[in-house]
Amino acid sequence: MIYFVGAGPGDVDLITVKGRDLLTRADVVIYAGSLVWDQHLRFCKQDCLQFNSAGMTLEEVIAVMKKNDRPEKVIVRLHTGDPTIYGAIREQMSFLEKETMPYRVIPGVSSFTAACAVINREFTVPGVSQTVIVTRMEGKTPVPELEDLERLASHQSSMAIFLSVQEIDKVLEKLKRGYNRSNVPVSVVYKATWPDQQVLTGTLADIGEKVKKAGISRFAQILVGDFITGDYERSLLYNPEFSHGYRKGKE
Ligand code: SAH
Repeated sequence: MIYFVGAGPGDVDLITVKGRDLLTRADVVIYAGSLVWDQHLRFCKQDCLQFNSAGMTLEEVIAVMKKNDRPEKVIVRLHTGDPTIYGAIREQMSFLEKETMPYRVIPGVSSFTAACAVINREFTVPGVSQTVIVTRMEGKTPVPELEDLERLASHQSSMAIFLSVQEIDKVLEKLKRGYNRSNVPVSVVYKATWPDQQVLTGTLADIGEKVKKAGISRFAQILVGDFITGDYERSLLYNPEFSHGYRKGKE
């Protein structure tokens, strides 16, 4: 059986219990070595076959799966963060479906929630934003026109921007036009939960210089929105005056 497993953002203890259990039982692991920390592999059996997919094509990955797929074997395809976000798993699933090879997906902690945890914030705070936009700027991979950063920013929601820090100036230009102001708070979190993690905080006006000075050009989350420093309202859920299914509030 083939398992797509989310490795989490970095720290090897941020994988799920299910994911770790599969890693310890795996006969074959194909890991995305450009972003997945190889420390995960120390949990594998000694005779586990290991492949770093960083230098492989989709066809080569599938060939390894096909060659080793037996009902009694555990094959783990280890992806960074959560595999359902920029994991390129859909194309692997299509291949496996064509070959009628069964698979399952084990979710993981995505780097965008890990980055928000690193800065001790909540994306969805009452009175500020109840929406998180998870997106990227176009690069070699195009982004649909309706999802252009400028348009998305016009919602003034909390945002987590993947895969874009290498073009920070262009990102900031689009965000400034979309938010229509430049005092919007921004945190750039490089390698969230890794030992060499870095956090930079500023606004749309000054974060670009900080990012360039720190030499960050990959492996970072750009978190944007007033949730980072702005005021907020208390939640109703824990408000003494508010009643709900589990608790009667004071009049
Ligand atoms: N599936 C992954 C994302 C893979 S795309 C997830 O759920 O997190 C790769 C991009 O994710 C990187 O370019 C970067 O923007 C982001 N990323 C992955 N790990 C990160 C980390 N530990 N800290 C900050 N950003 C990270």
